[in-house]
Amino acid sequence: MKAAPHAQQRLIDLQELDTSLDRLAHRRRTLPELAEIERLEARRGELRDHIVAAETELGDLDREQKKAEQDVEQVRTRAERDQKRLDSGMVTSAKDLASLQAEIESLGRRQSDLEEVVLEIMERREEAEARVNALRAESEGSGGELAALTERRDAAQAKIDEEAGLTGTARNGVAKDIPDDLLALYEKLRDQFGGVGAAVLYRGSCQGCHLALNTVDLNRIRAAAEDDVLRCEECRRILVRTAESGL
Ligand SMILES: [Zn+2]
Repeated sequence: MKAAPHAQQRLIDLQELDTSLDRLAHRRRTLPELAEIERLEARRGELRDHIVAAETELGDLDREQKKAEQDVEQVRTRAERDQKRLDSGMVTSAKDLASLQAEIESLGRRQSDLEEVVLEIMERREEAEARVNALRAESEGSGGELAALTERRDAAQAKIDEEAGLTGTARNGVAKDIPDDLLALYEKLRDQFGGVGAAVLYRGSCQGCHLALNTVDLNRIRAAAEDDVLRCEECRRILVRTAESGL
């Protein structure tokens, strides 16, 4: 392949700009905010699950408490009715009176047991409510944190995009100075060799693979016409000669 020395020099300018663009893209992909956002979103997902579970438990305890309070009420009403009958003086038989009094006493014990149950449920309910509140508070806090992180990520990305936009414009300007066949070869090599398709020969070394060329290769390069497009024998990248190539 042939290309004017000037076009070959421009290929090195293009490589520098492409390397900058690759670095910017890498920085954009690896912004610390992205990992933080991912971690926070996972935590928020967990919190949502925990909140649903805690709210369900709270609802169950509400129903349980209501039921236990109804039980207390039922026993209390029955004891009250028995007490009224006793107080009315209408029950006169000693046996009936004794049975009524026994029932009132038994209902009193039952009521006190049931009231214990209510208290115990209320305690559990308070704990569950505190859990729900703590989870909601954490979720709210993480929501604020997420919003701040998202803002920081967006600002960082916008800055990178702006720089990439300017670099991209410069890159396209440089690419116009390079013939299509050379550009196509460069792009192909860039894909193949980690983003570096063209390198300078500097003091006898290829700056793509950083290996020193042997005398045979250097002599071959010395003998080449200045518009010959050369390749590094070691890494196969396009090798561009400059005043400092050491030829
Ligand atoms: Zn090389």
